[in-house]
Amino acid sequence: MLPIHLYGSDILEKVCDDADLKDKNLSHLIKKMFKTLNKSNGIGLAAPQVGVNKRCFVINTNIIRELPKDEKIREVFLNPLIISFSDKKISSSEGCLSIPLISDVVVDRYEEIKVSYYNQKLEYCEKTLKGKLAVVFQHEFDHLNGVLLTHKLSKGQKEIHKKYIENILLENQITYSFDNFEDILKYLMSLVNDRNYLSYPSCLT
Ligand SMILES: [Zn+2]
Repeated sequence: MLPIHLYGSDILEKVCDDADLKDKNLSHLIKKMFKTLNKSNGIGLAAPQVGVNKRCFVINTNIIRELPKDEKIREVFLNPLIISFSDKKISSSEGCLSIPLISDVVVDRYEEIKVSYYNQKLEYCEKTLKGKLAVVFQHEFDHLNGVLLTHKLSKGQKEIHKKYIENILLENQITYSFDNFEDILKYLMSLVNDRNYLSYPSCLT
């Protein structure tokens, strides 16, 4: 399993480079990413989350039992693009493997998207994705552009999550002195990273 970079790690907020499809290490990376995704009980994982600045992510929605068959997929997305999207947006409640302890972040996503990408066999593919699958794709696609759930929080949502983090710190008798949400979240992630004693439930993507 590859170590997952947490909020505060620079690589998570950088725009990724195209994946070199001739790179012989690519299949090894993909294999390791699927392993990491499985062990984390996640449904999506982007290369920057494991410290690789490449436009690549993996999705496995098979673990969501209630999902309709046409939204179940185990797929690699190399150099993905969103070709077109629906007018209609849906409100989605998301978590991120790089921001453990923070869940239920409400984000607006396109309900349906048409995408292109190269798969594991390096074949060019075009697909229309909808529902949960479209949402997961958009979450992972954001990662390739250095965009995190925290960037999409409203002021009000930041306050709510800040209070939640403050409670975790209080419960663990950890003193802190941070005024804004980003700083206190970075501090919390450093505790998860360094001391490894703040256990957290597995999140989503
Ligand atoms: Zn994520």
